[in-house]
Amino acid sequence: MVRLAAWFHSAVEVRDPLLAEERETLLRARRPRVSLPTLSDRRRSLPLLAEARPLDRRTRPRHAVWELTLRCDQSCRHCGSRAGVERPNELTTEECLDLVRQLADLGVMEVTLIGGEAYLRPDFLDIVRAIRARGIHCTMTTGGRGLDRTLARELASAGLGSASISIDGAEAIHDRLRGSKGSYRDALAAMRALREAGVRVTVNTQINRLNVPDLPGILEVLVNEGAEAWQIMLTVAMGRAADEPEVLLQPYDLLDLFPLVDALAARCQERGIRLYPGNNLGYFGPYESRLRGTLPRGHAASCAAGRTTLGIESDGLVKGCPSLPSAAWGGGTIREHSLSEIWERASALRYTRDRTVDDLTGFCRTCYYADTCRAGCTWTSSVLFGRPGDNPYCHHRALERDREGLRERLVRREPAPGEPFDHGIFELIVEPVPRSKRS
Ligand code: SF4
Ligand code: SF4
Repeated sequence: MVRLAAWFHSAVEVRDPLLAEERETLLRARRPRVSLPTLSDRRRSLPLLAEARPLDRRTRPRHAVWELTLRCDQSCRHCGSRAGVERPNELTTEECLDLVRQLADLGVMEVTLIGGEAYLRPDFLDIVRAIRARGIHCTMTTGGRGLDRTLARELASAGLGSASISIDGAEAIHDRLRGSKGSYRDALAAMRALREAGVRVTVNTQINRLNVPDLPGILEVLVNEGAEAWQIMLTVAMGRAADEPEVLLQPYDLLDLFPLVDALAARCQERGIRLYPGNNLGYFGPYESRLRGTLPRGHAASCAAGRTTLGIESDGLVKGCPSLPSAAWGGGTIREHSLSEIWERASALRYTRDRTVDDLTGFCRTCYYADTCRAGCTWTSSVLFGRPGDNPYCHHRALERDREGLRERLVRREPAPGEPFDHGIFELIVEPVPRSKRS
């Protein structure tokens, strides 16, 4: 793996000598005060639309991602939900079990439990059992801080299908991003405990300016620890990640990132590890068929929020995708309406069912792939610009700009207010590629 790492470092140094230097500066930076969520119980959603259309009744979610609690045992500096303290009105056990019934009735085939840390809810295992009892595949995503052998055995006997452990860098970077020393070692211990207990293990990694050089090393951890799959996604400017914009990749960094990701994909193939590029790692560049060739269409499709995916917050707020900002994209809570009413009649969940090229703006509106892609990840553009429809984190777009001698750079103009799933406002600057960066 040394070869890959060395190759990447040299590639970065040719194209962008600043990246390594910035990483050092960011590493030395004093840890900012972690802002805890503002625990307001303000939950306002637009009223539901009067009727469900045939399209809304035909469209059914296959995958639900359910935040069981916002309570967390870490305080990650890139956490989009600013997890730490539980929400004031989290669902009761009875409400959770009823929600499991509603998810099954709606036809959901897989539920992924997230937090905060889902296992910090005392009834966590009961909820896993209830999901399994309805014949739904149950998985979880976890930082693994408190996931010891006892809990791993309990999860195995409750029927958990697999667990995705978050690894965001080599030890120093991971602990820095997770905001707690020892977090990396705990994550590795959790992986081992789960495997010993017979639970299948995968890994997820958020990519940002701090950890790009660590990616080859993370893959070696997967190989050594017997992980079956690796999901990689970009750190997005939401929650605490919006408080440190200098940690985020710039759109033009994708020009260097994608050759590395392609080399990592080749290594994954060699070692029998499935590589899943996250939905926000866009799209349609020369590596698309290696990265997404196994998808039904053989390439990226448009956003799945409200079409095949739904997200639930721990007080019952339903969104088309778990990552979307709560305020703009919450369709209502299951305390006000049934899950199927929200799914079929909330305008926030219908958005991607109705989106056309006419809803796109900026470069995306004019893009060759616009009709297929429809600006890709709704989350990414929403948290950058406060509206969907223009997504600069796209390899095809970065290449097109580069061909014209241009690049796109994001500058934060307004900070995020400091609530769970919040965001700031960024300006997109299109500028000539600096002479020193031209290839
Ligand atoms: S430029 Fe926009 S529409 Fe075109 S492929 Fe990229 S994200 Fe999709
Ligand atoms: S908003 Fe982004 S992460 Fe969410 S479903 Fe759409 S593409 Fe996927």
